[in-house]
Amino acid sequence: MFIKPFHSIKREKPLVIAGPCSAESYEQVLQTAESIAVSSPSVHWFRAGVWKSRTRPSQFEGIGSEALKWLSQIKALTGLKVCTEVIKPEHIELCLKHGIDGLWIGARTSTNPFMIEELAKCLQHLKVTKLPLFVKNPLNPDVNLWIGAMERFYNVGCEDITAVHRGFSLVDNGKYRQKPLWQVPIELKRLLPDVSVLCDPSHIAGERQYVYEISQMAMDLSLDGLMIEVHHNPEAAKTDSNQQITPDELKSLLEHLNIPNSENRSLSDITAIRERIDFIDDDIMDFLQKRMAQSEALARIKHQENMSLFQPDRWQEVLNDRLLKAKQKGLSQNFIKIIFEQIHEESIKVQSYAIKKNSLQKEN
Ligand code: PEP
Ligand code: MN
Repeated sequence: MFIKPFHSIKREKPLVIAGPCSAESYEQVLQTAESIAVSSPSVHWFRAGVWKSRTRPSQFEGIGSEALKWLSQIKALTGLKVCTEVIKPEHIELCLKHGIDGLWIGARTSTNPFMIEELAKCLQHLKVTKLPLFVKNPLNPDVNLWIGAMERFYNVGCEDITAVHRGFSLVDNGKYRQKPLWQVPIELKRLLPDVSVLCDPSHIAGERQYVYEISQMAMDLSLDGLMIEVHHNPEAAKTDSNQQITPDELKSLLEHLNIPNSENRSLSDITAIRERIDFIDDDIMDFLQKRMAQSEALARIKHQENMSLFQPDRWQEVLNDRLLKAKQKGLSQNFIKIIFEQIHEESIKVQSYAIKKNSLQKEN
């Protein structure tokens, strides 16, 4: 895959953006912003959704441009930078009229390249490519679609692009509202090491009790900051009421957050451990190679005996056995289940390929 080595502006770490899911009234945004500014001085950005793309048409769809006036007043009163979500080009124009400092692109928009293209062209046309942009991941776990969205902004000259990981919408999201799938932001950081990646723990969590643990995980994985939903009275919030925290809870969260210092680690210890990990990974791959060779041998017999490649009873036995052993070894059963499902799927592919190869050789 071709990826331009584009970079965005590196900011202080962690960058924290806080504020309500939606702007609901002047009093609500003002009270929330003032409390945040006083109790969490490390927060420099205030967020509030003005246009809300909602799942069902009957839900609260935001106040609209009226709320932009509130945000510009908040900026003047608190000194916080203000940002909001834009979905259509006309939103960008309205934000600029009201002196909004940054724009974020929501997950539903990042999913649609045509919409991104229109927003990018609008920024170019209005000559505001210096404006900070926060690009959330698309709804589906596709790192290329996420990169593609950022690339479209980069291609029109946008200089200040930050990614925001907000989790993915799957059939089974586990205990959270969105599945974090941390491997996706990790892969993004690997492919674009110069792009800052924030985490939005609120939309991943869905419930306020999980916001702290997700934020800590993001810090442990070296993400660059957080976008957290904060409301002075979350119970009364018109959107995402369950996941918003109060300004006091934000203060406590930030105080308890352990931010690893990547420059200050004992390098020789880490290097030694990493070397051992490299050896173990080599062993794992050697074992996988041996296992797939056995699958090929199995394929020959199954083919001779006209047996189907997938044997449900045997698979059930294998899975039960591996899950039991995972428990005995203190490994997560969920983790082992995922690994063996992948190994089994690959084994069937290898068997099928071996049979095809064999038949072709016979034909020739
Ligand atoms: C939001 O930040 O309020 C929002 C709607 O987020 P997302 O696009 O991540 O769903
Ligand atoms: Mn929200």
